[in-house]
Amino acid sequence: MDLKVLFGQVVDAIEDWKASWGSYETHLATRVDGKDLADALGLYVERLGGNYPFFHPHYAGQMLKPPHPAAVVGYLAAQLINPNNHALDGGPPTGQMEKEVVRDLASMFHFPGDTLGHLTSGGTIANLEALWIARELHPTKSVAFSHEAHYTHARMSRVLGLRTVSIASDHSGRLDLDALEANLRKGTVGTVVATAGTTGVGAVDPIAEVLSLCRRYECRLHVDAAYGGFFTLLARSNSSPLNPDIKRHFRAIADADSVAVDPHKHGLQPYGCGAILFRDPSVGQYYHHDSPYTYFTSDELHLGEISLECSRAGASAGALWFTLQLFPLNADTGLGPIVAAGVRAARQWSERIDAEDGLALFLPPTLDIVTFYPVPTSNTVSQIDEASSAIFTRAMQEEDPVFLSLYRVDKAALLARARDLVADRDQARILRSVLMKPEHETVVADLHERIVNLAQKYD
Ligand SMILES: *Cc1c(COP(=O)(O)O)cnc(C)c1O
Repeated sequence: MDLKVLFGQVVDAIEDWKASWGSYETHLATRVDGKDLADALGLYVERLGGNYPFFHPHYAGQMLKPPHPAAVVGYLAAQLINPNNHALDGGPPTGQMEKEVVRDLASMFHFPGDTLGHLTSGGTIANLEALWIARELHPTKSVAFSHEAHYTHARMSRVLGLRTVSIASDHSGRLDLDALEANLRKGTVGTVVATAGTTGVGAVDPIAEVLSLCRRYECRLHVDAAYGGFFTLLARSNSSPLNPDIKRHFRAIADADSVAVDPHKHGLQPYGCGAILFRDPSVGQYYHHDSPYTYFTSDELHLGEISLECSRAGASAGALWFTLQLFPLNADTGLGPIVAAGVRAARQWSERIDAEDGLALFLPPTLDIVTFYPVPTSNTVSQIDEASSAIFTRAMQEEDPVFLSLYRVDKAALLARARDLVADRDQARILRSVLMKPEHETVVADLHERIVNLAQKYD
């Protein structure tokens, strides 16, 4: 995709549309001097150059990548018009597109056809809305989630005044079912949050079993699939690289009460695109409000009536809609092969790490996150911490740099893997790589070799 050509086509098309409304003079106050513009642009581009190269396969650090060029083109076209998806009057076409992409996301999870949902600015707000509905439905009960759940659940529960119960997780980062059941037996939990792909290590909670427990103890299940949601595409395919048990848990999302997913993580979108889906459309009643500002000119459902956020970029919905025309939510075509490549890349790298004396795998990857650490000769937790940090820093400073991220783990998790380790510290930083670009699959050998060399140097 040639962005220069496509940008030209988009600008022409929108200019033509504008011209169809008749010409007018732009106000003098909005005009910009050519030299000022060139200077500011030069400065801006120079400052943006201070970024890490998120687009490059040698950036294998945090959960970050640029949007697909299709999403950029889709966003730009709508941005030039700037519809507001608060009300259908704020942008009828992108409002309609939002309803269509919400339907597509719902069918990806095998949610019912009348699922209620909308886009949000991200996973934080999507989860906030799920927790808020949880509180409205069970005002006297608490919400339970594991130690490894995203910190947003604890924080948003405080915002909402919801009581929380923290459930232990196992050494693989998954919610512990016995610990959950012990809490559910008390009858005070109203909602359980299960995570389909933790942000730290990509662990998938045993959603199928959590669902059975929720049924037995009559509580709601919210699935936080902000990061992992799009791997659901691989849950019903024979050619899927996911392990069968993980596929089963992704399939179980179909029976959850609500699910949050971030198209700005694995859905090829720029930031500002999350989504929340509710199985039971009647929860829409809790969003009820009277607005003196907004015209609700039609009786059709306005998205602002079912969203806590008011103004929302119609361009986000437009970009996602346009992207899904080209990359539909399928296992073997469209988006599926993109997320599958990351899973294979993580598996291939983890096999190499496992076979290497100087490196140890922290966890076998479930999705596309690899976690590992240099094996210290002194056999102490503090040396794992220091060597990881040294490799992380030096890898970025090489002439041809590699970018990783650091992840803090408890000594107990390390001791469970290496019993003779000396626990001279409570926690250690280890190395973490999110292999979320399909190009990562082609550079695994190269990434591995560089990290092995650095590990030898900094032992
Ligand atoms: C990223 C993430 C969030 C927060 O979402 P934002 O889009 O960053 O607001 C919540 N939960 C999980 C599991 C995530 O990975």
